[in-house]
Amino acid sequence: MTVKFQDYYEILGVDRNASEKEIKSAYRKLARKWHPDLHPAGEKEKAEEKFKKINEAYEVLKDPEKRKRYDQLGSNWKQGQDFSGFQQGHPDMGGVRFYTSGDFSGSGFEDAFGGGFSDFFRTFFGEGAAAGPAGRTGRSGFAGRSAGRRGPVRGEDVESEIELSLEEAYRGVTRSIRVSGSAVCANCGGTGAEGRGFCAQCGGTGATPEEKTLEVRVPAGVKEGSRIRLKGQGGAGLGGGPKGDLYLKVRLRPHPVFRLKGDNIEVDAVIRPEQAVFGDKIPVQTLDGKVTLTVPPNSRSGSKLRLRGKGFPKKSKGRGDQYVRLTIDTPSDLSEEEKNLYRQLYEQRKGGEGSA
Ligand SMILES: [Zn+2]
Repeated sequence: MTVKFQDYYEILGVDRNASEKEIKSAYRKLARKWHPDLHPAGEKEKAEEKFKKINEAYEVLKDPEKRKRYDQLGSNWKQGQDFSGFQQGHPDMGGVRFYTSGDFSGSGFEDAFGGGFSDFFRTFFGEGAAAGPAGRTGRSGFAGRSAGRRGPVRGEDVESEIELSLEEAYRGVTRSIRVSGSAVCANCGGTGAEGRGFCAQCGGTGATPEEKTLEVRVPAGVKEGSRIRLKGQGGAGLGGGPKGDLYLKVRLRPHPVFRLKGDNIEVDAVIRPEQAVFGDKIPVQTLDGKVTLTVPPNSRSGSKLRLRGKGFPKKSKGRGDQYVRLTIDTPSDLSEEEKNLYRQLYEQRKGGEGSA
């Protein structure tokens, strides 16, 4: 009997002398990547295949005893190569006993695993190898095996966006948002098992897609790019692992009046020439409502006036400032009388230039 050799190191993408920690981390990454729940219908089958392989590889490499046995095969084997070294006393085997297919025929093994593990694994490690403690064989409960096969994996962290107006970001706001994630499968309670096969609801993954509405309290003073963490609202854990977190990245809508520059706010104010000359008090919009700004005499276009402490909340404490940029413009609705006054001004200047 020949089966295809499984290169567990290659499947997990780790070195043959990788540490237990490296193996675990590689497994977690891949298990999250290929979790069938995270793939659309058309790619689910491929993902499930990958997911099974990854779990099988981890099942062997995480267990020092199994890994040692596996390593005794030597490193010359390539993924998918025909493998037939099952006879006792094979030179490479160091006297390890190998099972033949006859050892588990009719034992319900196939049923219990739903074809989850490769022929290579089953032939090499035999029935019950995936049950956890060495030597435990037989059908000691699929759920336990399922968990042992996978190991608890923390759910993935999910990132989403939340769009706020500048005022909402300034004051804080409570928002209902719709998020899609995954939940523990209601049919199997997250074990992935139903009877002696895979759960039909979740396909053995233990998790099902879920759309939910969350009430999010956005704290006051968040900025563009701020991340709000919602603990435990991310992806469902695998094999009893905890849920991941949901991160909401803040996007600020452009504001019609305010421009946020760091902790400071900039606005424009248009004044008339005589206001610039004599100075005036003008209304200016701030995050706290309208205030009166004093424009000093002889103000120039483009100059900036500061409203101290009217900016955005600082990270430490206190607030930035608001800057009001002056633009001088002439009114478009000048009366005849006003035009005459401007004309006088014009002639006055012209005369002055002439005599200089
Ligand atoms: Zn299920």
